Amino acid sequence: MRCRNGDRGVIMRAREEVERLIKEKDLRSLLLKAGELHGHFCPMLSLGVKAGAYAMNELVVENPGMEEIIAIVETNNCFSDGIQFVTGCTFGNNALIYRDFGKTAVTLAKRSGDGIRISVKPGAFMDPETEALFQKVVARREGSREETEKLMKGFENAAFSLLDRDELFLCERVKVDVPEYAPIFESEVCEECGESVISTRMVKKDGRKLCIPCAGGSYLELNGSGIVRYEDKTI
Ligand SMILES: [Zn+2]
Ligand SMILES: [Zn+2]
Repeated sequence: MRCRNGDRGVIMRAREEVERLIKEKDLRSLLLKAGELHGHFCPMLSLGVKAGAYAMNELVVENPGMEEIIAIVETNNCFSDGIQFVTGCTFGNNALIYRDFGKTAVTLAKRSGDGIRISVKPGAFMDPETEALFQKVVARREGSREETEKLMKGFENAAFSLLDRDELFLCERVKVDVPEYAPIFESEVCEECGESVISTRMVKKDGRKLCIPCAGGSYLELNGSGIVRYEDKTI
């Protein structure tokens, strides 16, 4: 189905192929494409792809990337990239909400609030040899090049074999308090560095309007440790 917009002709649907693959439950093709975003194939990416596709089909939705569908993820691990790719709810289109709970789980919801929460059951998602390599190469950063390559192969095998495994998730229907559409703020120019800044992020200091780095103010950062607050850190 194509959307038509009067005389202007056909609107290109950016996610047409992804939406088709979701409906066809072609998880293998979705995982292959998700790897382009994520950079490697791994068990958690695979679980994110699988959970994302399941949730999209359960809610019977497509996502044109305009905040009609939102995803709430509860940790920033590989799973969340599978979710972003398959559901189309991303960091940049304001439809990805991040709650720093440290849980591998996602809630997908429509703007009406009807949603589904899927969490990954505790368990082993790779063979013991790959798990041991993961501890050495990733957790302790001690792996040789050969061990790293062996890990990536083990990751890949685990990722694709998980697509056929059942009983991986706990699912429940939920009612979600969906936030308002992202507000549009004016931009202002920092009097120190001259860069454009969203007005709500400007800081008044000594009678001047500055950006946070120029003012040396506190800020939040999302990084590998989750959400971290920095106070007056020089950037
Ligand atoms: Zn990964
Ligand atoms: Zn500045």
